[in-house]
Amino acid sequence: MTWFEETLHAHLRQRFRVTREVYRERTGLQELVIFETPFFGRVLALDGVIQTTERDEFFYHEAIVHVPLFGHGAARRVLIIGGGDGGCLREALKHPVETVTMVEIDRKVIDLSLEYLPTISAGAFDDPRTRLLITDGIKFVHETAQSFDVIIVDSTDPQGPGAVLFTPDFYAACRDRLSEGGVLVTQNGVPYLQPAELQESYRCFRGLFDEASCYLSGVPSYIGGPMAYGWAVKGRHYLPFDPAVLRARVAAAKVETRYYSPEFHAAAFHHPPAIRRLLADA
Ligand code: SAM
Repeated sequence: MTWFEETLHAHLRQRFRVTREVYRERTGLQELVIFETPFFGRVLALDGVIQTTERDEFFYHEAIVHVPLFGHGAARRVLIIGGGDGGCLREALKHPVETVTMVEIDRKVIDLSLEYLPTISAGAFDDPRTRLLITDGIKFVHETAQSFDVIIVDSTDPQGPGAVLFTPDFYAACRDRLSEGGVLVTQNGVPYLQPAELQESYRCFRGLFDEASCYLSGVPSYIGGPMAYGWAVKGRHYLPFDPAVLRARVAAAKVETRYYSPEFHAAAFHHPPAIRRLLADA
């Protein structure tokens, strides 16, 4: 029997039973592996770290996309940094947006996800509202003159090419690219195992933005407890969310979801004491 062992955490390892390795390549930026499993379907790993699985991708993609988009309520221009598998793009395009700009550093992740994990993007790369750019996210936010209502950072963990997407310099450039009332959401790892990842982002957000927080949700293939998404707003306060307002937005947009709900959205910002303490100590 073959197993894939993830190498993300120092003190805890998860293994996936592998029925077949589908693809493996050093792309020049990272080692990409796609393998098939009996339970999670096909799985994408980069540099030994699980990125997404066919079976549970919706937990993550719906949480990282619908919370900022329904929370903002009138986003027209969306920017996704990273997200090569196309899952965030697919969910963002369910909203009445004008454009979704996606900036991914590694074209290979997109091409191989399209070939071997096509249900994750589900045609999103062909949508006329999609603007795809292959470049480093930090370079893009420094150089573009465009502004965005929502920026979603669907990055790898802070190692390899993703490390720059966790820096104060990157967050400040994101703030400058947001419109008034604009929302920045970042993937911030699993705080029980990676507390510094959330604390460092939160410390930057507190200094740079008018509203800074995080929200929590579970993703089965990201082990170690609920994962945290960083939340930062320019020029406005949205918290706390009223589920009734969110329900009206979901109904108006006719967005169908499997994980996201207005009640989940509002509850995800009510932190357990341990997370409150982590943020207070940041
Ligand atoms: N959901 C995943 C997770 O939390 O593990 C992230 C998935 S997505 C595949 C991550 C993407 O970020 C990868 O395709 C990677 O190439 C991209 N990426 C990493 N560093 C980047 C950078 N500096 N600029 C743009 N994209 C980057």
